[in-house]
Amino acid sequence: MTRLNRPVGPMTTAIHSGEAPDPATNASAPPIHMSSTYVSEDVSGFSAHDLTPDSPYAYSRWANPTVAGLEAKIAAMQGTEACLCLASGMAAATAIFFTFLSAGDHVVVSDVSYAGVAELARDTLPRMGIEVSTVDMSDLEAVTGAIRPNTRLIHTETPVNPIGRLTDLAAVSRLARQAGALLSCDATFASPLGMDAVALGVDLVMHSITKYIGGHGDAVGGSVAGPADLITQMRTEAAIHHGGVLSPFNAWLISRGAATLPLRMKAHEAGAQSVAEWLEAHSRVSKVIYPGLASHPQADLAARQMTNMSGMVSFQVGDAAAGRSIAQNMIDRLEVIHYAVSLGHHRSLVFWMETEGLIESSFRLGGSQLESYRAYAGDGIMRLSVGLEDAEDLIADLDRALS
Ligand SMILES: *Cc1c(COP(=O)(O)O)cnc(C)c1O
Repeated sequence: MTRLNRPVGPMTTAIHSGEAPDPATNASAPPIHMSSTYVSEDVSGFSAHDLTPDSPYAYSRWANPTVAGLEAKIAAMQGTEACLCLASGMAAATAIFFTFLSAGDHVVVSDVSYAGVAELARDTLPRMGIEVSTVDMSDLEAVTGAIRPNTRLIHTETPVNPIGRLTDLAAVSRLARQAGALLSCDATFASPLGMDAVALGVDLVMHSITKYIGGHGDAVGGSVAGPADLITQMRTEAAIHHGGVLSPFNAWLISRGAATLPLRMKAHEAGAQSVAEWLEAHSRVSKVIYPGLASHPQADLAARQMTNMSGMVSFQVGDAAAGRSIAQNMIDRLEVIHYAVSLGHHRSLVFWMETEGLIESSFRLGGSQLESYRAYAGDGIMRLSVGLEDAEDLIADLDRALS
């Protein structure tokens, strides 16, 4: 796989890294290699432990040229040595947990996170004998207090789904280093353009590439980018043994989306800023959380840490009854925005997340963690993924749903 061998800008990186004209045909666009197996030129072994970075392609659960192209593109965009792509963002999260944690180890996880990760951490990891602490990652004292002698991993998410709270990655990475633990960060909301996670001290940068990196809502996938030795370990465990590999067709779709990521992120950010400002001025909207607004509770951190504020806007419209009725209005009246889960697509998406239900099913917070969640999310969060449509059209749509 050719990599650009001189420094180039982020747009050029996104377009050209991980791909090159096809040597067989001179095709400018990369082909899709759907082959599950490859004709061997040598008598070799068939164990994950025989695989080296220079091994020829042998079987597509080990490695596939189209998937490898996407991995090289994401590694280049994220500024890491290597990347592993898997079948979904959840496969990427489980790859981190099950490669680097064993029975008797301890992990510190953000108390609020993507619901699937929250449930995996609370239900599955303890069943495997892994100790789990959930903390508010914006509270550095809480993070420090949670660290134990057997802490192997700190896993955070910033901005966090669905409430947009930020983690100070430089500060948490210092704590992880002192503890001899790895720091992994789910940077799905930020995208690789949203912050330089590696420079901030993150060891493993995870994305649901279903979201911004793919960008068009037509393929599910996940990635983890990081140092080559850690990624090789993960490839053996998560891809070759657990087997949740990405299909070449999805890799090709996501790669085509990724080529325009820097351009799209600028447009997502501009659209979200306009919509967030309009929402903040609307009489029925009680709160708007967007890192690009001066009113964000961590606006200073956002300005320091984020290089693109992304397109994710969370807002509230009063109590749970009001939220439910606006959600129904949205289902009935929205013409442009789709009322649907997921995010980071060119189409705008909105979804109401009621606090009570989320606390019961996913987060199970109590005490000060619950108070802190409520202070952020009140009785429910409208999670709006601002797409690439004209901001005026999104505003007109939202105005219909809010009136
Ligand atoms: C969607 C999402 C995931 C899960 O990714 P899938 O591709 O749906 O498996 C993980 N983390 C965050 C922040 C997400 O938004």
